[in-house]
Amino acid sequence: METALITGGSRGIGAAIAAALARAGYAVAINYNHSAEAAEALAASLRAEGRAALPVQADVSDPAQVAAMFAAVERQLGAVSVLVNNAGIAQQKLFTDLSDADWRRMMGVHLDGAFYCCRAALPAMIRARYGRILNIASMWGQVGGSCEVHYSAAKAGLIGLTKALAKEEGPSGITVNCIAPGVVDTDMMASFSAEDRAALADETPVCRLGNADEVAAAAVFLCSPAAGFITGQVLGVNGGLVT
Ligand code: NAP
Repeated sequence: METALITGGSRGIGAAIAAALARAGYAVAINYNHSAEAAEALAASLRAEGRAALPVQADVSDPAQVAAMFAAVERQLGAVSVLVNNAGIAQQKLFTDLSDADWRRMMGVHLDGAFYCCRAALPAMIRARYGRILNIASMWGQVGGSCEVHYSAAKAGLIGLTKALAKEEGPSGITVNCIAPGVVDTDMMASFSAEDRAALADETPVCRLGNADEVAAAAVFLCSPAAGFITGQVLGVNGGLVT
């Protein structure tokens, strides 16, 4: 059985991807930072279905925690052949109000986190001459979002990482792709008012927000052996908002 590690698998899009990969036959390592209870509950419900699931704590912005997480997962589930870099945070602020700490945290979770996790995952994938890395970026990384400059910059960086790493790892049988979600109804949207959410739905050609399962369905395909000729790509799952 192949092992998939999903960062930020405790809630939202990451939890949906973890559940979908588990149901597609992968043993899943469900990474969380603060939401231990949610990660444990998801793992327990998947195990009750007969799936293999392991909750594993790490702040992905800390290289030592990432290394320890990979060691624990390899020990308990085997080498990771599918890595989904999904962990993320959001913050809406004027660019001129951003502190050094705001900027660093945004880069730390999204970009440093993906770097540390790819670095930890790749040696085993290269040895196996097979691997799937999927990075969860954002449409704001493609087109830029006002009051989310640091978020947009981090996600644009993740898209650059994806394209370059895809070229480097292609000869080793490893694909590296991005999903760039549009507006997806998760806790990340909790700070938006009902009016803001309605306005975003209005702007979206399919006239609604997305849901996490719709991102997960695309993720399962891009992580599958069948997607071996797709690499370095950015797939918008955004209801047509960015084309
Ligand atoms: P969410 O519901 O807020 O969940 C965020 C997840 O990331 C949680 O599982 C959280 O874990 C984890 N996380 C945050 N910081 C972490 C860290 N330092 N180390 C490990 N895990 C960490 O967000 P979501 O909407 O599902 O977003 C998932 C991804 O999709 C993010 O990368 C986000 O930027 C991207 N995205 C979301 C949308 C959207 O509209 N929702 C749109 C575009 C892109 P704990 O709770 O355990 O701390």
